[in-house]
Amino acid sequence: MTQVADPTARSAASPAPGRISHWIGGRVVVGTAGREGPVFDPATGTLTRYVDFASVSEVGAAVAEAKAAFPAWRALSLSKRTDILFRIRNLVEQHRHELAAHLTAEHGKVPSDALGEIARGLENLEFACGIPNLLKGGFSEQASTGVDVYQIRQPLGVVAGITPFNFPAMVPMWMFATALASGNTFILKPSEKDPSASMYLAELLREAGVPDGVFNVVQGDKVAVDAILEHPDIAAVSFVGSTPIARYIYETGTRQGKRVQALGGAKNHMIVLPDADIDMAADAAVSAGYGSAGERCMAIATIVAVGDVADPLVEAIKARLPRVKVGPGSDPSAEMGPLVTKQHRDKVAGYLDSSAKQGATVVADGRELPLYQESEGFFLGVSLIDNVTTEMDAYRDEIFGPVLTVMRVKTYEEAVALVNDNPYGNGTAIFTRDGGAARQFQFDVDAGMVGINVPIPVPVAYYSFGGWKNSLFGDLHMYGPEGVQFYTRAKIVTSRWPDPGTSKIDLGFPRTR
Ligand code: NAD
Repeated sequence: MTQVADPTARSAASPAPGRISHWIGGRVVVGTAGREGPVFDPATGTLTRYVDFASVSEVGAAVAEAKAAFPAWRALSLSKRTDILFRIRNLVEQHRHELAAHLTAEHGKVPSDALGEIARGLENLEFACGIPNLLKGGFSEQASTGVDVYQIRQPLGVVAGITPFNFPAMVPMWMFATALASGNTFILKPSEKDPSASMYLAELLREAGVPDGVFNVVQGDKVAVDAILEHPDIAAVSFVGSTPIARYIYETGTRQGKRVQALGGAKNHMIVLPDADIDMAADAAVSAGYGSAGERCMAIATIVAVGDVADPLVEAIKARLPRVKVGPGSDPSAEMGPLVTKQHRDKVAGYLDSSAKQGATVVADGRELPLYQESEGFFLGVSLIDNVTTEMDAYRDEIFGPVLTVMRVKTYEEAVALVNDNPYGNGTAIFTRDGGAARQFQFDVDAGMVGINVPIPVPVAYYSFGGWKNSLFGDLHMYGPEGVQFYTRAKIVTSRWPDPGTSKIDLGFPRTR
């Protein structure tokens, strides 16, 4: 087994050197299951720590804490809960650089990107601070004579979130901000690849005044996930990750009677019409294709060049590639970091060979980057593949790396058909100067999030995030108003206060008239 690089290294909040543990009942709980996973620094390729993998009984202990904490948390007044949310928001903002350092150390994303992730997560905390307004129900006075009807929304109980490696801080915030604000208690199962951010967040939540047991973290793999899916005291599960696992989570969780929202993978198309501003489209393609080394669910994966825009567009993108600075997060000039693991980096690089074999044109090969050849880190330079078609592996698979593919079509109709025939439907974008074409696109396209001259249309926190087709299983999108709906259930009260002595027996069905 590889040696731990720094045996004195502590994870955020870990009393055990070199280990990242669970957070249960307001404190760090070192795993006793005897199962663990390695955590790497992707920029150096070194194994830096081990993360405990929870057993079924450790997940059970976290659920018991969350269940015990629920009655008092849901009974806390909205203004007191809001106070705590404000404090969480301020602490995350204040400690964003420390949190970002955890992201860079385990995910590999460069600090500017890590801070961007945190900023988008903060938006969710800010939205959740408006919970008194968001939980306002409806009231119908005099629905029948002397009868009022009103709706209240109440929390579900213990809810869980299972999150992916690519946003170790933001995606947990998507979930727990709204879940806690709505009065639920929470179990987070982060990705085992970059688990420290979740422990750091747990510390900040405690400092903000979140009572013990309201927020818990169980580290682990499929064992922990299955324990969550099968636990009878967990009412709802939010998931973000790849499509096969999202489908599994949705099917298993709903079979157990849980409410489930499971966001899956993506293949985001960016259509460029012949009238588009080439420089703007090329800048957007490079930013959205290679930002975070392409490891974003909203990354642009494929450019669909319509008509004669293809040649100048490919040239413009190619001309920009040498300027993309790839390097470790410790290098302030680096704009793109390594990939998350060696295995993933090698898989992504493999698409360059398969594309060439299948007839595509490799315009830029990321393996020519000196860091790819010389560093132990999991680096791959930016790659551009032209003349990709629907049968090629590079189109059929979600590559999830710094590889942009270009497809050439003759018409707008062909471009839209490509997007609509794709099994994923997360984000998509169109670049054009023609408002009518853009409006038609938003009408025609089968995807959950659409950008018009915006390559990464991640909705602001007061809308909700979610794709269509294989990019989301379940009915409700994540965070924002739909998040509040997901984490609460409606109760409708029909009430009257008749004067004593005015009642009579009536076996007929209650009428309003
Ligand atoms: P993943 O599906 O491998 O893992 C996600 C979570 O599921 C992790 O917590 C992991 O521990 C757990 N998991 C993995 N295998 C499991 C199994 N067999 N059984 C039970 N649980 C399992 O995803 P990832 O590689 O961490 O993240 C990248 C993927 O997430 C990409 O497909 C990306 O598109 C997707 N993603 C989607 C969105 C979105 O909003 N739609 C956002 C971010 C990432």
